[in-house]
Amino acid sequence: MSKKLIVAIDGPAGSGKSTTAKLLANKLEYLYLDTGAMYRAITFLALKHNITGNEPEIVELLKRTEIELTYTDGVSKVFADKVDLSEEIRSQEVNSNVSEISKIKQIRQILVEKQRQIGALGGIVMEGRDIGTVVFPNADVKFFLTASIDERTKRRTKEMQEKGKHIPEDIVKENLLNRDKIDSSRKESPLQKAKDAIGVDTSSLSIDEQVNFIYKEIYKVVEQKRPHFEQDK
Ligand code: C5P
Repeated sequence: MSKKLIVAIDGPAGSGKSTTAKLLANKLEYLYLDTGAMYRAITFLALKHNITGNEPEIVELLKRTEIELTYTDGVSKVFADKVDLSEEIRSQEVNSNVSEISKIKQIRQILVEKQRQIGALGGIVMEGRDIGTVVFPNADVKFFLTASIDERTKRRTKEMQEKGKHIPEDIVKENLLNRDKIDSSRKESPLQKAKDAIGVDTSSLSIDEQVNFIYKEIYKVVEQKRPHFEQDK
């Protein structure tokens, strides 16, 4: 694939976005950006400073903090002022608070701006909730992943177990449903499928099937756009 594309992958938690996006980025030799990690990082810091109820202070905190994401050898990390928070941002406490903090307009403006800067040159697979609708409405290819709530719960519970965290399925399910509700109903860039996104229900797909399907769809778009790309050269 010659032109460096912007690939947007949106969907609710547990729909298979991260696994798919990372494998796809490896296959395409593109950058990978987990935008959820940015919202999680500011949530972790707000909890640490005990300011979750104070929007202006959270915004100020984000303004003076340098949030960086890296993706090397299949491992994604998040740093705040050079401190590695990759483990901490996956805690239950962050899970329970991140959607409330992600509702804040100014927080979204700052992070969306950062995401646009990172993705501007293309050659990136970006995952989140609003990539195809708000961050890059002109992304070259957009996907919207879904899966049944039971499947998402199973995947999340297993993922946590693998990290040594044994959380009962009903708690995991409740958190997923709660986040879905807040993320989909918020005023600022709610979680929704972009009109031109390709919907993929991953409930009964293996990871390989998911990635291969998406890869083929990307190829189709590249073929369709080829005359356009040639002109751009
Ligand atoms: O992707 P992940 O589940 O880690 O995202 C955590 C939370 O961050 C989401 O539930 C949502 O509230 C927020 N988020 C967002 N916009 C994005 C990515 C994540 O609001 N682009």
